Amino acid sequence: MSISGPWQRTAVGAGLLKADGVIRPTIFAEMSALASATGAINLGQGFPDEDGPADVLEAARRAISDGLNQYPPGLGMPVLREAIAEHQRRFYGVKLDPDRQVLVTAGATEALASVILAFVDDGDEVVTLEPFYDAYGGLIALSRGEHRTVPLRLPDFQPDHDDLRAAVTDRTKLIVINNPHNPTGTVLPRETLELIVELAHEHDALIVTDEVYEHLTFDEPHIPVATLPGAWQRTITISSGGKTFNTTGWKVGWITARHSLITAIVAVKQFLTYVNAAPFQPAIALGLGLPDEYFTGIASDLRNKRDVLSAGLAKAGFDVFESHASYFVVADAAPLGFRDATELCRQLPELAGVVGVPISAFCHDELAAEYSSLVRFAFCKRVDVLELAAKQLSRLGR
Ligand code: PMP
Ligand code: GLN
Repeated sequence: MSISGPWQRTAVGAGLLKADGVIRPTIFAEMSALASATGAINLGQGFPDEDGPADVLEAARRAISDGLNQYPPGLGMPVLREAIAEHQRRFYGVKLDPDRQVLVTAGATEALASVILAFVDDGDEVVTLEPFYDAYGGLIALSRGEHRTVPLRLPDFQPDHDDLRAAVTDRTKLIVINNPHNPTGTVLPRETLELIVELAHEHDALIVTDEVYEHLTFDEPHIPVATLPGAWQRTITISSGGKTFNTTGWKVGWITARHSLITAIVAVKQFLTYVNAAPFQPAIALGLGLPDEYFTGIASDLRNKRDVLSAGLAKAGFDVFESHASYFVVADAAPLGFRDATELCRQLPELAGVVGVPISAFCHDELAAEYSSLVRFAFCKRVDVLELAAKQLSRLGR
């Protein structure tokens, strides 16, 4: 029996099918398994180790008791679509029709999947930044698209504007950006976002913007691409409740865009999950309506955690790149004598009782080679856990 199929292409696109024919789990699954097997501190997969707001958790429990346990409507529950529209108005001044311009998805992952599958056909080009979140590579390959990337350059992981201009052509169907950026913690400045909008117009491309870390910025407030002049008509904005409310396991995400784009995306999304997370939808709706102090509080709490881990990594002998947002900081292990971060990450539980993720897992071969000594560490953990991890990592330099 033949078990060939598009899954092979998907695995290659995500960098998971190696020359030896062995399919690997995602780097996050591999590193979390390593952490569980060894008891090491898991600074690999990005998930918080503390619960989010008690009111949000209670709302989900209440929804289950109240019998919200059957299929919600295909677009998502009205209470959540209204809360998403109100959130976009409150934070960004974007006015949305919750019945026509908002779609609830099974996390940002299903949002990305349905958008890419909806718009990318055989041979269409999709431009992303590189390093890129692993699902982008897999989904572009699944849709038979061609993946073009724009490298984020050291020391601040910004894309060169000429590289962006060269990557976007008339063959480009989608420009997928992730801002704030996983894995680098970089934030694209307004000028770069403006250039992306300009290029999308020039080459008649759509912009897909993954903004799951929108509330986790440490310096300047987040700028949604959709708010820039000329952007709205061709921008599909994706976010998720996972990072904002410490509920990564609930998988409640959403898309906002003009109605005709939403309709095209629904055509695909209805055959992926159809719907999900009935009792969690009103809970995330409640979360989106929390007072401003909640949102400023999570960013400042996380900024403190970034500082603790960044200082610890520097003290342990890593070269640390400043993280401006997200859950993640990138550190270079070369000054400690480690040139191959993939190898180092496999040994790290034994050497220091810590797990991290090599940046090469987010790159195609060329950039993977250039960034071979870089490691991503997650700081969305309790301060005492980060302090212990930093102390253990200081063994590396001895
Ligand atoms: N995009 C990025 C950049 C992410 O980091 C993640 C998960 N951490 C996702 C998408 C997936 O989000 P979700 O868990 O809501 O599917
Ligand atoms: N987004 C999380 C990270 O970057 C992991 C999500 C996953 O395991 N797919 O660590």
